[in-house]
Amino acid sequence: MQNSDQIRSLRETGRRILSLSSGDPNLVTDERIVAAGCRALQDGDTHYTASAGLPRLRERLAARECVRSGRQINADSILITPGGKFALYAALQSMVDPGDEVLLPDPGWVSYAACVRLCGGRPVAVSSLGGFDLDELRARTTDRTRAIIVNSPLNPTGRVIPKEELSALADFARERGLWIVFDQVYCDLAYDEFPFLQAEPGLEDRLIVVDSFSKTFGMTGWRLGAFIGPEPVRKAVAKIIQHSIYCVPGFVQQAGLRALELEAELLPRYREHFHKRLVPTQAALARLAGWECPLPSAGFYLFPRITGDDKAFARDLLDTKAVAVMPGSAFGAAGAGHVRIALTCPEEEIAEAVAAIADFERSGNRRNV
Ligand code: PMP
Repeated sequence: MQNSDQIRSLRETGRRILSLSSGDPNLVTDERIVAAGCRALQDGDTHYTASAGLPRLRERLAARECVRSGRQINADSILITPGGKFALYAALQSMVDPGDEVLLPDPGWVSYAACVRLCGGRPVAVSSLGGFDLDELRARTTDRTRAIIVNSPLNPTGRVIPKEELSALADFARERGLWIVFDQVYCDLAYDEFPFLQAEPGLEDRLIVVDSFSKTFGMTGWRLGAFIGPEPVRKAVAKIIQHSIYCVPGFVQQAGLRALELEAELLPRYREHFHKRLVPTQAALARLAGWECPLPSAGFYLFPRITGDDKAFARDLLDTKAVAVMPGSAFGAAGAGHVRIALTCPEEEIAEAVAAIADFERSGNRRNV
C-alpha cells in the first residue's frame, strides 16, 4: 500500500511525485489561530493544564453539540483529546476486552480496524459503500459484539449518511445493546444539509462522538480533538488521558478556542475551496472510459470505480506517471475496484495529475487489463 511515508521516501530520492493520496487538507492554519497559540505560549501557557481540557473550550464544544443534537449537552460530557484518533482509540480501549468484536464500515478509514486490534478486539467489516445493510449488520453481530463505528461523512467515499439510515443504525444499536461510536471529523466540510447521529432519540446512554479540529480548520499537526460521551466510557477515557498524556497542551487549546470564534467566517471559505476542486475533477474523471465517479456530498475525496485491479492500477500509475492515489482495497475488501483520490495538493498539481491519469488510461500504460 502506498502511504505518506513511502511517498516521502520516493521524494527523498529526488523524484517529483504528484500526491493525490494524503488526508491532510492543504489548508494553512489561519494566521489568527496561529497567533492565539503563540500568544498563549508567550504569556506563559507552558504548564500542565486541566486533564479533561480547558473549561472554556469544553463549554464552546458543548454549545455546538447542543445545536447538533437538539438536546442539552453540558461541558462535563466533553473531554479534549490530542486529535480525533486518540478519542476513538481511548473510547475503544475503554469498551473492548480481548476477543470482543466491533462492527466497522467497509470501505472505511484504515485506523478503525487497527485501533480495535490494538485493544485486543476483532474488527468485523460491514459494507458501507451504498449504505449499511441491516440484514448484514444483524448477521454479523454475535454475543461478543460490543460496538459499531459509524462515520459520516465517510472516508474514503465522501458519502453523507442520510437521516433514515442513521435512524435505522440507532435502532439497531439499541436493539442489540451496542455502543455506537460516531466519527464526525469531516462534518464541517459537508456541502448540503448534514444529519447528525446525536439528533436521534434514545442514544444518550450509548453514543460516543469523535470530533476534531484537523479537517475543519486545517489543524492536523496541532493534534486537537474531542471525545463526547456518557459515563462509564467517559470516566475510563478521562483516566486514560490522565495517566497517558495527562493533557492536551494549553496553548493548543487556546488556538482551538480562537478557531471556534472564527468558525462562521472560515468554514464557508474552506467548503468553497474544496468544492471548487471537486466539481471539475469529478467531471474529468467521470469522462474516462469505464470509470464511474460520483460527486461526493462532503469533503475532499473522490472514490471512483475504475476498471481492473485497484492495487495494480495505483502501483503502475505511481511507477509510470509519478502520481500517487490510494487503492480502494486499502480501505477494506468492499473498496476493491476503486481508488481514493484526495484533492489535498495545490490546484495546479491536481490538474497535472488528472491529465496524467487520463493519459495513463488512454495510452494503455496499464499492465493489468
Ligand atoms: N476519522 C477519520 C475518518 C479520519 O479520516 C481521520 C484522519 N484522517 C480521523 C478520524 C482522525 O483525525 P485526527 O486524529 O487528525 O483528528
